[in-house]
Amino acid sequence: MDRKPGNPAPSGAPATSRRALLRGGLALGAVAAAGLANSVHADAEAKAAAGPVDYPSAVWSPASTSNYTASNRTTSYPIDLVVIHVTQENYADTIRLFQDPTHAASAHYVVKSSNGAIAQCVREHDIAWQAGNWGYNTRGIGIEHEGWVDQPAYFTTAMYHSSAALTAAICDKYGIPKDRDHIIGHVQVPGTDHTDPGPHWDWVRYIRLVNGV
Ligand SMILES: [Zn+2]
Repeated sequence: MDRKPGNPAPSGAPATSRRALLRGGLALGAVAAAGLANSVHADAEAKAAAGPVDYPSAVWSPASTSNYTASNRTTSYPIDLVVIHVTQENYADTIRLFQDPTHAASAHYVVKSSNGAIAQCVREHDIAWQAGNWGYNTRGIGIEHEGWVDQPAYFTTAMYHSSAALTAAICDKYGIPKDRDHIIGHVQVPGTDHTDPGPHWDWVRYIRLVNGV
């Protein structure tokens, strides 16, 4: 593509047409380069539209940078916990709250009740302020589920399946065991006064789904 004048013509090319071949080659090269530039540009545009998500089917809905700690996990801290939450807000309001720089809380993901859609609000390498405990925050990926702890109707099959697939992917990525010692509720975090995901969250079903059984 950057063939310089004076470089040998391709072997077998008749001497008389060497100049034409070179000119043709350069022209083709320019077209190819333009094509490459276009496709690089298209890739960049596609990435920007999709956002920098860690989970391909998530939609990037970034939290305010005031609501989490930038980091470079797993170099800075190992990740060995998934923390399950229930929002006590609806899906859209949860995302809006994470975007409010005064909210002082966030989670990596929010799962929508009605159809299991997933928003990613904080990159996995960053530390979401989700567990209310710095040690657990540094080790954890937080997943919020749209609903209220006393309203089990919010915990739909679509939500269980979608969230379990997300947790399974996180566990596979970081080598986290798919068990209740490593996939915990916010309620299990030392020092918390939160009760989520609450008594209606079906842990047996969830862990089974995470393990693909
Ligand atoms: Zn919580």
